[in-house]
Amino acid sequence: MRVKNQPKSTSQNIPMKQFHSMKDAFIHELRDIYDAEKQLLKALPEMEKKAASPDLKAAFREHCEQTEEQVRRLEQCFEKLGEKASATSCKAMKGIIAEGEDLLKQKDSGDILDAALIGAAQKAEHYEIATYGTLAEWAKGLGETAVKDLLGKTLSEEEETDELLTKLARGGINRMAKSAA
Ligand code: FE
Ligand code: FE
Ligand code: FE
Repeated sequence: MRVKNQPKSTSQNIPMKQFHSMKDAFIHELRDIYDAEKQLLKALPEMEKKAASPDLKAAFREHCEQTEEQVRRLEQCFEKLGEKASATSCKAMKGIIAEGEDLLKQKDSGDILDAALIGAAQKAEHYEIATYGTLAEWAKGLGETAVKDLLGKTLSEEEETDELLTKLARGGINRMAKSAA
């Protein structure tokens, strides 16, 4: 079935080309996460707006600022590799964000929605952690030390964000959500 009025993606949905080297696979994955970060850059302010807990709002705001820097870091990676910084549609992040957007349709903000927003955000972070973990290892294998350092820095930020979200959930949001029911 064809879906009408589909929003136009800013990224290129080009068919995947054949890999001839590990570097080809690396660049493909780099373009995927470049798109994923850009998608998150748009989604995080919406999540911040909808969150009720001031701590959760702050976490989303801070991570949005980090994400801007992460986009720049990826551009530095492309530059160091002598490749054009272009994005390939990340279908996985599109799906994760679409699920998050469903949550944003909830009328009432509060502890229950906060708990759900944390869950949605952690799905995005885990996708990023998996991707950056892979990319950092590949960069190391390819002898691209400067690129590996940049990717490793972002990986740490994603892990820290994930831990912070867990802390916020365990620190009360989940419990309050339960008693609000
Ligand atoms: Fe990120
Ligand atoms: Fe992807
Ligand atoms: Fe992130």
